[in-house]
Amino acid sequence: MKAVCWHGANDVRVETVPDPKILNPRDAIIKITSTAICGSDLHIYDGYIPTMQKGDILGHEFMGEVVELGSAVKNVKVGDRVVVPFTISCGSCFFCNRDLWSLCDNSNPNAWLVEKQMGHSPAGLFGYSHLFGGYAGGQAEYARVPFADVGLFKIPDGLTDEQVLFLTDIFPTGYMAAENCNIKPGDIVAIWGCGPVGQFAIRSAYMLGAERVIAIDRIPERLQMAKEDGKAEVLNYEEVDVGEALKEMTGGRGPDACIDAVGMEAHGTDFMAFYDQAKQAIRLETDRPTALRQVIVSCRKGGHVSIPGVYGGFIDKVPMGAAMNKGLTFKMGQTHVHKYLKPLLEHIQNGEIDPSFVITHRLPLEQAPHGYQIFKDKKDHCIKVVLQPSS
Ligand code: NAD
Ligand code: ZN
Repeated sequence: MKAVCWHGANDVRVETVPDPKILNPRDAIIKITSTAICGSDLHIYDGYIPTMQKGDILGHEFMGEVVELGSAVKNVKVGDRVVVPFTISCGSCFFCNRDLWSLCDNSNPNAWLVEKQMGHSPAGLFGYSHLFGGYAGGQAEYARVPFADVGLFKIPDGLTDEQVLFLTDIFPTGYMAAENCNIKPGDIVAIWGCGPVGQFAIRSAYMLGAERVIAIDRIPERLQMAKEDGKAEVLNYEEVDVGEALKEMTGGRGPDACIDAVGMEAHGTDFMAFYDQAKQAIRLETDRPTALRQVIVSCRKGGHVSIPGVYGGFIDKVPMGAAMNKGLTFKMGQTHVHKYLKPLLEHIQNGEIDPSFVITHRLPLEQAPHGYQIFKDKKDHCIKVVLQPSS
């Protein structure tokens, strides 16, 4: 089959690789009809996620048709159309039983590697390095889905791929980010990053009752999408002092909740941003917490900080004094996709949201290298790329 393989920083190639096979009774093989490139893939593309190996298959946002099932998978049939959560979960451990699906205890065969750094291992992830299980990803013609009896969600007839594809990741991610803000009527939510995750966080914050949403970025078409389609007030961080502007827009109090939908590759214009760039470049700091610092300092006293943006390791100069003395509540994590799939599918079926609004590029799988390039460089007004295998 054809698959998008990682070969090093800024080097992905579409190659012919062996077809996946059923390895365990709870596996399924999916013929992929649509798959997407995520901001999280960019951290791999840019070379910041360790333990990638040349030839690893990328991709964790994918859906398709079931073509083969292991003997223990009884709840779906060959031919069913399914979406696949990007987090791999067993469905029966301590964490899955508490709806903490991205913290599954049984899906990362390389848990010992992560435990050395993090103390405990989160769930395995599709196409996301050997640290997170070494699973082949879904930017391919076929993929093997482990624990398929809990990891495949059948899609009802009448919905297109583009309407449901983002149930695999970015819609639940934006939603969980907003839910983690503990939104109360009248609340003002500020969101750093108007990429796909930020876009879904904006809409989710309104769905959960926010009175006002303020979105921050510097890319004109992303700010425009946030404003026109998302009904957010917007700030361009290259044009204004974000902290001052937020104070002014909230009567001096600050937003009730702040979401970091940027993560480890934030940009910035101040001295600290250059400090982060330099330290990350020589690997003295793994992540650039440029947006996170602003989030903490801007949030109102007693407010909520929600972090869907991915961080991988160690960050510098985080204003912990501000966080502690202002009594902030922090919530974060890889998304518990399984928990949100059904309720969010209902929002789509009810016509409350059509997640396809975010797609700007549809490309054949063969053009994945071009897709990565324009998504990374924000070229050609790229906001979200969907790849379609041709076979
Ligand atoms: P993206 O790269 O398309 O979007 C990031 C946006 O942040 C860009 O538009 C960029 O211009 C903007 N930005 C950069 N620096 C900024 C700053 N200082 N202030 C404000 N905006 C800034 O990526 P995405 O797909 O939207 O993903 C966003 C983050 O969410 C990534 O870190 C990704 O890894 C993460 N993510 C997490 C989960 C999860 O389960 N928690 C799931 C999916 C994605
Ligand atoms: Zn993703």
